[in-house]
Amino acid sequence: MRQFSDKTLLVATHNAGKLEEVADLLSDIGVSVVGAADKGLPEPEETGTTFIENARIKAHAACQATGLPALADDSGIEIDGLGGAPGVYTADWAETPNGRDFVMAMTRSHDELVAKGAPKPWTARFCCTFVLAWPDQHDEVFEGKVDGTLTWPMRGEFGHGYDPIFVPKGYDTTFGEMDRWDKNRISHRADAFAKLSAIFPK
Ligand code: IMP
Repeated sequence: MRQFSDKTLLVATHNAGKLEEVADLLSDIGVSVVGAADKGLPEPEETGTTFIENARIKAHAACQATGLPALADDSGIEIDGLGGAPGVYTADWAETPNGRDFVMAMTRSHDELVAKGAPKPWTARFCCTFVLAWPDQHDEVFEGKVDGTLTWPMRGEFGHGYDPIFVPKGYDTTFGEMDRWDKNRISHRADAFAKLSAIFPK
């Protein structure tokens, strides 16, 4: 695996929370982090059919535009009873003309499982993929996941997205009922992040 030996990493996201998370990880080792918004980069269209393809599109576009090594991520939920849907279309299932509506997306997930007669437990997983791309086109991929089951009705006020219907394996509570710290310890993102950490100097 190629190690990261540069001084600056571009994080190909317009999300301030994601940028801060990576900056935290790298603060002790003298790598500075810049965001896509700081560089005025547009958000490329996510035309891939897998998390890896979409993360690659974002990482390579940002890298080629700036000449800096660039990190991008893509995430979502795969529901086994729906053949892995919504997968890369996780956010799309929430789109409405007035913004994202995740109650609608969770209701659709539930209703399609019922309509298909999918047997319980309704197994599912959250996935998170990071891709780090270098100007010479090389990239490294880091995949994280957390397995669980879907429950209905929704439970919990915390978190975001599909958290209120996802019960991680080994727990009785949904991600929506867990506090942020507990969720962040076991999440797909934490798993991918731990793998990503290995390429930075200690
Ligand atoms: P993106 O990777 O930022 O494009 O996110 C894709 C979508 O996946 C988000 O809009 C959320 O709906 C969903 N998602 C990703 N991670 C989580 C999570 O930890 N909890 C709930 N939903 C998530």
